[in-house]
Amino acid sequence: AENFRIHEALKQLGLAQINDGTSTGSKNFGSGETISSYSPVDGALIGKVTTTSKADFENVMEAATSAFKDWRLMPAPQRGEIVRQFGEKLRELKEPLGKLVSYEMGKSYQEGLGEVQEMIDICDFAVGLSRQLHGLTMHSERPGHRMYEQYHPLGVVGIISAFNFPVAVWAWNTALAWVCGDVCVWKPSEKTPMCGVACQNIIVQVLKENHLPEGISCLINGDYKVGEMMTSDNRIPLVSATGSIRMGKIVAQAVAARLGKSLLELGGNNAIIVTPDADIKMTVIGAVFGAVGTAGQRCTSTRRLIVHESIYNQVKDAIVSAYEQLKIGNPLDETNHVGPLIDSDAVKMYEAALKEAKNEGGKILVEGGVLSGDGYESSCYVKPAIVEANNSFKIVQEETFAPILYVLKYSGDVENAIAQQNGVVQGLSSAIMTNNLREAEHFLSSSGSDCGIANVNIGTSGAEIGGAFGGEKETGGGRESGSDAWKIYMRRQTNTINYTTELPLAQGIKFDL
Ligand code: NAD
Repeated sequence: AENFRIHEALKQLGLAQINDGTSTGSKNFGSGETISSYSPVDGALIGKVTTTSKADFENVMEAATSAFKDWRLMPAPQRGEIVRQFGEKLRELKEPLGKLVSYEMGKSYQEGLGEVQEMIDICDFAVGLSRQLHGLTMHSERPGHRMYEQYHPLGVVGIISAFNFPVAVWAWNTALAWVCGDVCVWKPSEKTPMCGVACQNIIVQVLKENHLPEGISCLINGDYKVGEMMTSDNRIPLVSATGSIRMGKIVAQAVAARLGKSLLELGGNNAIIVTPDADIKMTVIGAVFGAVGTAGQRCTSTRRLIVHESIYNQVKDAIVSAYEQLKIGNPLDETNHVGPLIDSDAVKMYEAALKEAKNEGGKILVEGGVLSGDGYESSCYVKPAIVEANNSFKIVQEETFAPILYVLKYSGDVENAIAQQNGVVQGLSSAIMTNNLREAEHFLSSSGSDCGIANVNIGTSGAEIGGAFGGEKETGGGRESGSDAWKIYMRRQTNTINYTTELPLAQGIKFDL
């Protein structure tokens, strides 16, 4: 019955057994080899997607650059109307798309739906934004002069996304980029190619219904080699890349070598600080969801819990006993809390990390392990583990994309906890659980958390689209989504207009002829 429902969803999303992985809008093609997408849920083949060859990529770039010439001339609120229609289509297809996300990536159905909801939310945000792409006006130092700034579309935006948010990350970028007047070329993760084709099918319908030029939304598919076609291409002024720090360092250098712009959303190593004034019940819920939700495969997953020594045992016991309640299994079954990891490589990394944590002296509080047998045929299901560790362990310093929670102790003042929290190379999400105003404000101050996201009495995991999303240090410094994150998708121009018959120079410089 479950499979039937999946097939129904695939049909509603216009997916076939073999899908063209390259699309310029109305034209679909793909002459490269095919990638097979297997579900981590049950190991079944979902479908195949053709990859993008060099020649395919040239076609895409031609379609995109030519579409840009028209799209940039359409008034921004009219572009917003197209994004509004896209949001409407997403509302109609929320269930099948949410189901595909769950089935291809392995997150729970609820989270799959949540991801589509984020796409809808960013569309709504972008529609409003399409009337608010404001620049400032300034007072000129010269008489009879007016000075202002305006934001113009940038061009072709390249989007490279990770497997763990196979649809939302694209929408965060593309909905804003479109209202800004850009056209987009998207390379989804090679681990979730069907999600990419499904999204492209949806937007193509909207573009066709509005008789818009093809190339406003393009899709390419394949691994890093296809990604490199974008990072090295001068016709792409901005590359937005989401994924590992390892990938970000390569992409950043390739784009910088041609003085392009990159927007990087890379790995996190997120911690919750638990002070003596914390609400323990809230802490347990926040920490457990943060650590095991999406099987620990969120960039904002809680990886470290930094607990004050005075409440250490109490918190530790509460978390350990919460872990005993966790049900692991098919994420489409809503009674399960934890689904599978993305693939067997991820399982190997999880096992290696646990082994290393033990080797470095970590004490296992909740034993991990790979599950087998009924319901676990895909071999991707693992038990969430908790390790008592030290922040200086090499493995604690790394982001392992799996449900492993490291519990660390601090003593004395909250400053000591903040030092541990900041004592890693990543800087994405952070949280403090406290009812103490002084501790909370210290944590949020300039000498507090060094992350792009800092929460009080909320876990590290998940974020609303209204705020700018991203992190510091090796997380890459990029910001996406709300606030003024749209500015990176546009080029700023300063304009000075002289409405007199004189030509005074700036800084009072005299130049008489
Ligand atoms: P990954 O780095 O393996 O792959 C991400 C994407 O980059 C894929 O599409 C891949 O094909 C592409 N890629 C890899 N090497 C490339 C290269 N040299 N040139 C061009 N493209 C290249 O990451 P993943 O395993 O898919 O995702 C997990 C990682 O993503 C985690 O580190 C996670 O924290 C991070 N992530 C970060 C955010 C954020 O917003 N900060 C959001 C989601 C995921």
